[in-house]
Formats: sequence, C-alpha cells, structure tokens
Amino acid sequence: CGVLGLWSPEPLPVADLLQLGLFALQHRGQEAAGICVSNGKDLVIEKDLGLVTQVFDEARMQRLRIPAANLGIGHTRYSTTGSNLRFNAQPLNVRSSKGILAIAHNGNFVNALQIRQALLEHGAVFQTTNDTEVMINLIARYAKLDLVEATARAMRELTGGFSVVLMDRHTVLALRDGNGVRPLVIGRLSNGGWVFASEPPALALMGAEFVRDVRPGELVWVDEAGGLSSWQVLEPCPTPCAFEWIYFARADATLDGIATHPARIRMGEVLAREAPVEADLVVPVPDSGIGAAIGYSRASGLPFDFGLHKNPYAGRTFIQPTQEMRDLKVRLKLAATPVVAGKRVVLVDDSIVRGTTSGRIVQLLREAGATEVHVRISSPPIKFPCYYGIDTAARKELVASTHTLEQIRALIGADSLAFLSEAGVREAIGGPVCLACFNGQYPAGQPEEEVRKEAL
Ligand code: 5GP
Ligand code: SF4
Ligand code: MG
Repeated sequence: CGVLGLWSPEPLPVADLLQLGLFALQHRGQEAAGICVSNGKDLVIEKDLGLVTQVFDEARMQRLRIPAANLGIGHTRYSTTGSNLRFNAQPLNVRSSKGILAIAHNGNFVNALQIRQALLEHGAVFQTTNDTEVMINLIARYAKLDLVEATARAMRELTGGFSVVLMDRHTVLALRDGNGVRPLVIGRLSNGGWVFASEPPALALMGAEFVRDVRPGELVWVDEAGGLSSWQVLEPCPTPCAFEWIYFARADATLDGIATHPARIRMGEVLAREAPVEADLVVPVPDSGIGAAIGYSRASGLPFDFGLHKNPYAGRTFIQPTQEMRDLKVRLKLAATPVVAGKRVVLVDDSIVRGTTSGRIVQLLREAGATEVHVRISSPPIKFPCYYGIDTAARKELVASTHTLEQIRALIGADSLAFLSEAGVREAIGGPVCLACFNGQYPAGQPEEEVRKEAL
C-alpha cells in the first residue's frame, strides 16, 4: 500500500495535493484509494475501489474541498489481509473519547488476530476484515491518554511490519515498526508544513522537500507549535524489506538512503557474475526487469535491447483466470520485437512468484525467432510467504517452494535458469534487509496461527 499525510500551518488545497501524492504512489496499490481531510472542525473521508484517477472524480473532489482545510491523510490499497472489498478501503476512521481518528496503513500486524480477540472480549465492534482496524481501535481505547501516548502504546503492543499515518482534526502522526520493514519519509513544505509519504516521489509532486526517512521504531508528529516532534518508541532494529528494492518501490525512489534503480542495476551486475552465460543479447521483462538487465548487460559486456514491447495501455487486465485467458493476458501486455530473431537471449526479470509470466514470455521470444532463452532472475527463489505486507501468494502457490530449480526451468521452457543469491541481494542493496520470503527467517515475527499450521 501507499500512505500519505499532510499538515499545513495555513489553509491549502489539501485534497488536491493528496490526490497528486497518491498518484505518485499508485504503483503501491491499485485496488482502492482514499483521502481524509480536516479543517480543525469537520473531517471528511472519500474512498472507493479503483485507481486514484477513477476514485477521485470531480464529485468526490468537490466533497473533499472543505473550506480552510489544513490537514489530511491518503491511502492506495493493495490487499494482503482482508479481501478486496469496498469496506476495507482506507483511510479508516473511528470515534474515540478524544474525537474522531483516521488511519492509513501499509504493512501487516503479525499479532492482529490475538489483539482483535482481546478487544472483542472488551466490547469492541469491528466493521472491516482488515488488520488496520485493530490498531485504530487500540489507539482509541488508550486515547484517554493523549494521542501521542496512546499511539506509542499501540506501537509497543503490535508486532509485524507497518508504516502508519494517523490524524485527528488537529494533527498528523507518522510511525514505523521497529524493523522499519515498510518505508516512510518526511518532507517539508515551503510554508512550514509537513508531508509524510511512503516514497519520496510523492513529496516531489506535492511540492515538498525531502527531509529524512522516519526511523525504524520512531513516532513523529506535528506539535502545537507546528514543529515536528520525534519519539523513539521502539528499539530500532533495521531490516527493511528487500523486495522494495528488488521490485516494489518506484525506480526513482531512495529508501533509507539507498536508491532503488542503482540497487537494481547492481543486482543485475552481481547476477551476471554469479550466473554468466554465452549469449548475444540481454532483454529485460518490462518494466520491473529493466534495472537488473542494464546491470547484467554492463557486467557481462553483452548488448542490451528491448526485445519485448509493453503496451502502455494494458494496465490492469480484468480477465477470467482460465488457461487461455491467462495466456492472452501476457500477450495483451507484451509482444516480442524483431531484435530477438536468430539471437541467443538472456531474459532478465526481477522475480518469479507463481512462474506463469516467465513461461509465457519464453514462449513469445521463441515464436519471434530467439534461438536460445536463458532466464536470469534478480532475486532468490521465493519460497516463503510474506507476513509484512507483500502479497507473494500462499506457500503452495509459490513455484519455488514446491519445485526444484531444474523443475522450474523445465516448467518455463528455458534453456537455462538462475536466480540471484541471498548474499548477492545483500551485496547489491548494501544494508541490512529482511529476506524472509527467500530464507524463512522472519525478523519481525510470524503469526502464531501460521506457526501452528506449519507444525501440523
Ligand atoms: P509470476 O508469473 O511468476 O507469478 O510473477 C512474476 C512477475 O510478477 C514478475 O515479473 C514480477 O515483476 C511481478 N511481481 C512480483 N511481485 C509482485 C507483486 O507483489 N505483485 C504484482 N502484481 N506483481 C509482482
Ligand atoms: Fe519483503 Fe520478503 Fe521480508 Fe516480506 S518477507 S518484508 S516481501 S523481504
Ligand atoms: Mg514484472
């Protein structure tokens, strides 16, 4: 998901600025979008299923443009827990003894089920199936303390990977779990206002200047003087999600001081060193394989070219999941170009999840006359589920958890197949990271119910 927050010392077109910011975070979630704005008295939320441009039509924007608005939060949703239903769209809001609160959340709480159970026993009522509601209910329950104290207490009770932006009618708060699994950055507006966003490109579009990342375990908020206060609530133990650099974050983003596109290039370079092959051409799977393919080409000395054309209008295709339709889906999006004819191709992509995409693409390249297709993947095989907010499918659907390397190669019809090693990912990113979906070592814990299931 993508999250966003804005506070300004004076009225601003808050809804319009948040809409711009959400547009820059669209890649982090395409299922639903929402904006909440306030002017100190009123608080309005508009949200629905769909892309940012679909959800925020003129009628919705008019309703959000309340007079003298000076703060708000926003969300783009990518469903992990809680299904793709309208009532699961965010921001979520709740009434507390301190007034109304609204929350936007990226990530997953690992102990949400246990806390939900405890809250239910104390009479809480839940409206959604998503775990974000657990946090906002915890905060509302503690809000007899002040909002900052209440939020810090909720941070201490919840485990997992989460970046959260939260507001009442006066202030905006932003926080990251102790591992800093999901990104979150701080920006400054020229009028002295503050912006919080999942990724820096959203700041740029909103006219804010990048200040710094929220630190793992840190809670920041706009204080009464309009300054930014900080509280290191949890012991920082940084293991941000490696998948942000591998695939998820925008290519122009810098997260925790490490730029994504150069990191992807380094992944490709290390991959070329670890898994060289005699070939004529390096071809990326657009768009997510481009960075690594550039790196593979540079390190191997093999020429780079766009052997696949991506139809920029394909976007999301709502197609029935039958075999023929899945095949058509890849063909709607991608077509092989004539440069691959008669060539031994190194096909570079960022990841294999279910293994369907790679198989179709290998087929496309052969039909276009490629004589050999060597698949190189710039991440290790995904063998374990993510409990921290990336929907890499249930374990039984992960092709690498049920197949050997040779079986996957045969399945996708490649002449050879290689994945980047875990050490290679670490080297390319250059900082401590979570690699749990590759190695099963979960730095921010595992849900108890899943651990029990595995033990059966
Ligand atoms: P597969 O066909 O193996 O299931 O999917 C692999 C492709 O999906 C890769 O090209 C990769 O860029 C993309 N991918 C990896 N992770 C995700 C994800 O979390 N969501 C979506 N929509 N695509 C992903
Ligand atoms: Fe990222 Fe994988 Fe860790 Fe999930 S398990 S946070 S996708 S590295
Ligand atoms: Mg891809």
